[in-house]
Amino acid sequence: MKPALVVIGNGMAGMRTVEELQKLDHDMYDITVFGAEPHGNYNRILLSPVLAGEKTIDDIMLHTRDWYVQHGITLHAGDPVVHIDRKKRIVRSQSGLEVRYDRLLLATGSTPFIIPVPGHQLPGVIAFRDIQDVETMLEASRNHRHAVVIGGGLLGLEAANGLLRQGMEVTVVHVTDALMNMQLDKPAAMLLQKALETKGLRFMLSAQTEEIVGPDRVTAVRFKDGSVIPADLVVMTAGVRPNIALAKASGLHCDRAIVVDDTLQTYDPRVYAVGECVQHRKALFGLVAPIWEQARVCGAHLAGAGHRRYVQQTSPTRLKVTGVDLYSVGDIIGGEGSEDLVLRDARRGVYKRLVLKDNRIAGAVLYGDVQDGPWYFGLIQDGTNIASIRSHLLFGEALCARAA
Ligand SMILES: Cc1cc2nc3c(=O)[nH]c(=O)nc-3n(C[C@H](O)[C@H](O)[C@H](O)COP(=O)(O)OP(=O)(O)OC[C@H]3O[C@@H](n4cnc5c(N)ncnc54)[C@H](O)[C@@H]3O)c2cc1C
Repeated sequence: MKPALVVIGNGMAGMRTVEELQKLDHDMYDITVFGAEPHGNYNRILLSPVLAGEKTIDDIMLHTRDWYVQHGITLHAGDPVVHIDRKKRIVRSQSGLEVRYDRLLLATGSTPFIIPVPGHQLPGVIAFRDIQDVETMLEASRNHRHAVVIGGGLLGLEAANGLLRQGMEVTVVHVTDALMNMQLDKPAAMLLQKALETKGLRFMLSAQTEEIVGPDRVTAVRFKDGSVIPADLVVMTAGVRPNIALAKASGLHCDRAIVVDDTLQTYDPRVYAVGECVQHRKALFGLVAPIWEQARVCGAHLAGAGHRRYVQQTSPTRLKVTGVDLYSVGDIIGGEGSEDLVLRDARRGVYKRLVLKDNRIAGAVLYGDVQDGPWYFGLIQDGTNIASIRSHLLFGEALCARAA
């Protein structure tokens, strides 16, 4: 009999790890996957284009139910695991199914953070994380007019853009005075805001939500300064928290998330974890690029080919709003010992800022012309000394190559 691998979480990290494992050894385990969502595995990133009407749910499926059958994997979709008994090595699902494991993979992702203001539990207040949320938003856009998105980060802006494309009047509320303040500096954030205002979005910056007004369904949002705006739908995009309740209850060592080593193993050698539910050397994860690398390493260790080690690397951020070109990577704050190179062309709507440290690029913010983003990213990753191309650096790879 083959050893049993149980995967908890039928999302991007879990299934990518299964794929990586099967690339190395297709028949090593009897694999059982439990998913809380009632679907096959889909590309969560592409929920934004689905909301904007540019893609359908079918377009974004990565693994349909047939795929699991073809690959000899047992899928229990819509049946979350509610208990792990690490002594007996058994997981139990909500429907009462019990499955024994030799290896367990936790890939439970994150849970959206809902700001606990009065009224946050009213119907019409949702997050933006899964197919269900998108369906709720699409339904609201057919029957209602005013949407408020709380959180002006990447996810919030993609939600706002999608709802606008569906015909709603959308206001984005953000607690600081600049959009995407984790990834952009002020000038880039201003350009972004202008471009989105031209598309029809409204913004309330430096705004603190005090209450979501009901009584039976959301009707308005009230702010600390006393102002009130109408709302039939409130989308909270104020960050996520690693989904670790199950791991914690099973006694696995967790800090802010499930603590793993460089092989993605938890403190229990039979249990691995990947994706947004893990903490690796103090870091948490919220983008897929590092998660693909975790999956590659974890898949190899599950396959018994334990020679890979997970090494953290910086990942670029892009906004998926058609017509808005934005690229941000690395340390964009700088600080002591760093220098800035800036190119600003207001008429073309182009802004580029490179943060340099010791003749190396530490970070890049590009707005309007992002063609050289991957090249700068490569220079960051390789730690290339840019002293000889410094004067041409902002004009991009082509010019630097010609000047060399
Ligand atoms: C709208 C949107 C746009 C995004 N855009 C980008 C982007 O442009 N670029 C980028 O890099 N990243 C983007 N992300 C982030 C990216 O999708 C995540 O980093 C990635 O999905 C994390 O993978 P994961 O497997 O850890 O979590 P998830 O994909 O969330 O998968 C976890 C799964 O586990 C399930 N689960 C939880 N608990 C249990 C349980 N007890 N039993 C069974 N199943 C359980 C959950 O229901 C979920 O299906 C975006 C995210 C969203 C929501």
